[in-house]
Amino acid sequence: MSDTQWRIEVQRHLCISSGICAGIAPRHFDLEGDGSHPLADVVDHDDDVVDAAEACPVEAIKVFSNAGNELVAPLD
Ligand code: SF4
Repeated sequence: MSDTQWRIEVQRHLCISSGICAGIAPRHFDLEGDGSHPLADVVDHDDDVVDAAEACPVEAIKVFSNAGNELVAPLD
């Protein structure tokens, strides 16, 4: 585990399959029948991941620091 990485969670029960996250960060999110899936649960820091989490209309995407488990995005 490293401080240079984030952990992505998608709460699919909230996801409305808008496709916004996959549009902003296609290297990190893919839409399947039940909603958005992160292509990898743990990723190197990438602003696109934060932008996708901030843009999700239902805040279904949570980004945490992998080492400290602190919420990185979305932040109010
Ligand atoms: S932006 Fe949010 S609601 Fe839209 S597909 Fe991604 S996770 Fe689902």
